[in-house]
Amino acid sequence: MKESFDGLVIRESSYGDSDVLLTVLTSEHGKITLTAKGARSQKSKLSSLRRLFTYANFECYEKYGKRWISGGSVNESFFGLGSDIVGFALASYIIQLASELSGEEVRAESVLRVTLNTLYAIEKKLKPHALIKCAYEIFAAEESGITPDTSACAYCGCTENGKGFWLDVMNGRVVCAECHTKNGAGAAIAPTDSFMTQNILVPIDEGCMAAWQYVSRADPKRIFAFSLTSSESMAMLARATETYIVNHLEKSFEALEFYNGVKE
Ligand SMILES: [Zn+2]
Repeated sequence: MKESFDGLVIRESSYGDSDVLLTVLTSEHGKITLTAKGARSQKSKLSSLRRLFTYANFECYEKYGKRWISGGSVNESFFGLGSDIVGFALASYIIQLASELSGEEVRAESVLRVTLNTLYAIEKKLKPHALIKCAYEIFAAEESGITPDTSACAYCGCTENGKGFWLDVMNGRVVCAECHTKNGAGAAIAPTDSFMTQNILVPIDEGCMAAWQYVSRADPKRIFAFSLTSSESMAMLARATETYIVNHLEKSFEALEFYNGVKE
């Protein structure tokens, strides 16, 4: 059976002497594995399709229960990502997250669309790296159904507080500084909860909370259209979204360590 579809290469590995296995994120089939026979050879007509970050139209056929690439054409290579190490590191982390957000033969329309928009924003330097990363992590939380309630303090319902807020990571909520002090010794914000998982609290302010809510509900094209009033707020949001996603997905990302090692 022959088929063709658009997909983004999110993983590439050698297979045998000259073949390449690609993990490709598609709208229709989610995350799928394609074999590119002989693609490691420079002469192969498939060699342009095998590079990481390539968004292409793949023509495939099925044989022995696997999908083999017979041809295709590149829609977008995101070639510019290779010219900046920080952007490259961030893009690598983004596709690792995209892989976590998608499954085999599960439609992945919005994950693919937002991932492509994000790679474009990194390549064209449309926004600072930190902001792009925060937005994608907030999208990842939303896509995984684990968005925290950042609308108000979970205890008193206040939306403003001169002393700031804490993001209660494992409970997916925020607590104002006052309620945190009041309840700090109680069961609610004790070091471990009823499942004996460690509570993780990260400082967060009103601007971060508004940004989080904005991105969660934003049209995929508009997820980067926010700003924070100070670099301190931006740093706070960056720490909050990263801590949140890493702890909820219970995964460490090689590319995230790489990014954190090279970022400005
Ligand atoms: Zn409160």
